[in-house]
Amino acid sequence: MSLNRDDMLRELELLPVWKLRELPAPGREAAVPEAPVPVSEEARPALEPVLRQKAEEAPVPEAIEVAAEVKAEPAVFAENRQEQIRHLDWPALQACVQSCVACELSATRTQTVFGVGDPQAEWLFVGEAPGVEEDRKGEPFVGQAGKLLDNMLAAIKLKRGQNTYIANIMKCRPPENRDPHRKEIVQCELFLERQVALMQPKLILALGRVASQTLLQTDAAVAELRGRLHSYNGVPVIVTYHPAYLLRNLADKAKAWEDLCFARRTMQELQAATQA
Ligand code: URA
Repeated sequence: MSLNRDDMLRELELLPVWKLRELPAPGREAAVPEAPVPVSEEARPALEPVLRQKAEEAPVPEAIEVAAEVKAEPAVFAENRQEQIRHLDWPALQACVQSCVACELSATRTQTVFGVGDPQAEWLFVGEAPGVEEDRKGEPFVGQAGKLLDNMLAAIKLKRGQNTYIANIMKCRPPENRDPHRKEIVQCELFLERQVALMQPKLILALGRVASQTLLQTDAAVAELRGRLHSYNGVPVIVTYHPAYLLRNLADKAKAWEDLCFARRTMQELQAATQA
């Protein structure tokens, strides 16, 4: 199925907002800027090899065999947590998340929410934390914000589960949907770090403030971070607004659309670099 410009904007529920602006001539695609991908100064050294990458395949992440049965965090695991998580393979990591009691969110969760999609995907979307529906279903972005995220994916011809993976910084729901506390993020981000190391996605889309600030280790606002390519452990990162924020701030959907165009163009360049 190929989506034309109007289809994309409709998928993103952007048409009413977009109509307030100057429209390109009928039949023309909405402009995707041609300029070279802007790379943030901090990210440049980490991203240069990625942007220059030739035919070499991304390195196959080392899958160190670790027993998938990690029932609970034993004392020795808690002591050496970071190092141990960095050596888990995917099933062991899943088991480890499921049994995690490293912060108090484990006491109030229904279940952990590891992520959904293809662990070999080129696209990784990172949100903040499960909400009430995600906590119930064990899958990220299944509520209202999730519907908008699915529309955002469709706008760039993507589909949940197909060449995409969706995860959160936090694997457990913070009660009353409060912001996760710093000490909770510190414990939990190790899991995402390992997911990224194993997946080696081509591009990460950081959705909203908590995801962007955690991945990029900054206090800067989403508005300041958008529009440039950043890096997380050598993987290119693009920042955009969180779908839940967009549901409350319709005017910023137009900016999210720009971010998606930027992401799509960047992905095309990254894919071309790999095939060259
Ligand atoms: N918001 C998020 O950041 N993640 C989810 O999984 C759901 C809502």
